[in-house]
Amino acid sequence: MGSKLVKEIQGSDPTKPKANNKTRIVCISDTHSQTDNEDFPSIPDGDILIHSGDFSNHGTHEDIEKFNAWLGTLPHQHKVVIAGNHDKTFDATFENNNEESAKEVQDKLTNATYLQDSMIELNNLKIFGSPWVPKHGHWGFLLNESQRLEKWAQIPEDTDVLITHGPPHGIGDLADSDVHLGCKHLLAKVKEVKPKLHVYGHIHEGAGIRTDGTTIFANAGTVSGGIGWHKREKITFNQPIVIDL
Ligand code: MN
Ligand code: MN
Repeated sequence: MGSKLVKEIQGSDPTKPKANNKTRIVCISDTHSQTDNEDFPSIPDGDILIHSGDFSNHGTHEDIEKFNAWLGTLPHQHKVVIAGNHDKTFDATFENNNEESAKEVQDKLTNATYLQDSMIELNNLKIFGSPWVPKHGHWGFLLNESQRLEKWAQIPEDTDVLITHGPPHGIGDLADSDVHLGCKHLLAKVKEVKPKLHVYGHIHEGAGIRTDGTTIFANAGTVSGGIGWHKREKITFNQPIVIDL
């Protein structure tokens, strides 16, 4: 589905200064409470840090506080975070959660701007974030096809940087099971909106940077490997993705 025209590209070199008219965006995702792992990559500085969800394993208060404290050690002027399906406590509609309990955990992220179907403008870039992914297992932020269509309809036409937890179909969404797990409706919306950058994760195996010539697609999955990644003898990591926009 359009993936023939998509090619892999390199990100910007974090050891070199950015051009004056650019905003350096550092993208990470799916850190899954591994920030204190001795092999966890160091995060290059930039103007905006983006984390596209699954910062925890189950969204416990302890993991959220650990993540927030870690964010506080990073130098970026702006930090933008969305939730993923593992950050279950952020989903007000999951199990016994409610608006109040979801607000309580959001408020713990004092060192970042939390986006959930909402936008922030930074450095003249309109940045929109949304956590929803296709239904699978028992997690937060799961929606069926028609529900996802409704959510993607909320993505503003003037979005410059789109952050979602899940990939669009066919671009950095190939799981170890050899199945493309991205959302077709999200791909259609991205083709319509044409953001400069689309950041996501969720399918860790699809990590990498690609472009269709219009949008840069960054699967910023930081822990490496698909289902069972945490059961390996040694957890491995992908480097943060740096894009000068
Ligand atoms: Mn994940
Ligand atoms: Mn996920």
